[in-house]
Amino acid sequence: MSSSPKTTVLIAEDDAVSRELLRKTLTSWGYEVILTTDGAQAWAAILQNKSRIIILDWMMPKLDGLEICRKVRDTITDRYTYIILLTSKGDSDDVIEGLTAGADDYVTKPFSRPELKARLLTGKRIINLETQLLETQKRLHELATRDGLTTLWNRSAILQILEEETERSRREQAPLGTIMIDIDRFKDINDSYGHLSGDTVLVTIARRLMDNVRPYDKIGRYGGDEILVVLPHCNWTHLEIIADRLQKAVAGEKIEISGHKKAIDVTISIGGTSFDGIGEKPVDRLIMESDKALYEAKNEGRNRYKMAKPEGKDE
Ligand code: GH3
Ligand code: MG
Repeated sequence: MSSSPKTTVLIAEDDAVSRELLRKTLTSWGYEVILTTDGAQAWAAILQNKSRIIILDWMMPKLDGLEICRKVRDTITDRYTYIILLTSKGDSDDVIEGLTAGADDYVTKPFSRPELKARLLTGKRIINLETQLLETQKRLHELATRDGLTTLWNRSAILQILEEETERSRREQAPLGTIMIDIDRFKDINDSYGHLSGDTVLVTIARRLMDNVRPYDKIGRYGGDEILVVLPHCNWTHLEIIADRLQKAVAGEKIEISGHKKAIDVTISIGGTSFDGIGEKPVDRLIMESDKALYEAKNEGRNRYKMAKPEGKDE
């Protein structure tokens, strides 16, 4: 039987007796506990994302609780940290100061066990809610940027990536390659075996392409059966090697289609070009030249790659 993972609570308390009492109490309620003995230690643990719920003593050496609250709110923006301030200062003004500094809640010493238990549950609810929201956000982002069939980047996402990579290439004066791929006679495959089989072919080709590029290369579905590959740090010579590899990866193995005994031969045509990182930002030029080279590869008989001659280079 699987049980849900324990919630971790970070305790920052310089007083040894208080710290041990908190440890025992929280452990008996089923929390995983991380103990720190001063503000600097606590801050280091928070930065390492050791826990999203924190019980902070107000008065501590090195960094006090209020300073940590402010640092958390100022610097940790990618996740929520729930902070309970624990202190003997219980005046209304102190409460206001603590909450203003960024604490979510406030418990006065000596703490009442049922009260602390209830306040920790509130923290747990907030953190769980935020985790769910982040997951939903991630799923929505996937839906907005991925092609549903092949899981490659979709058209707008790969164009955005190309935009960013050309910018980076210019900044670093490093080369950037682009490759445009189109499946040969894909319409015939749909006509002969049905659209669903065509889909299988697309998915298989996408998988083979992904398996044959480096992790930082990006592949997107540019159109129906057109695929765009963006290759950072890839110059003209590398481009040919990669194009050759991709072409062989697709054509080298027949593709199985359900309901058909014989696997089928599928080939692709490839056009590529590169940018040396110097001069005007060339997004449109890269697409245009890759497309043009692809068109030549089609015209010369398909199942081949053609590279656009870079500016200033002779054959
Ligand atoms: P060529 O070698 O000149 O590229 O020939 P082609 O038959 O591939 O020609 P074209 O590029 O014009 O045809 C692309 C075909 O891709 C037509 C379209 O029905 C098919 N297609 C586009 N998107 C999908 C898809 O998601 N699934 C399937 N099964 N087919 C698709
Ligand atoms: Mg085609």
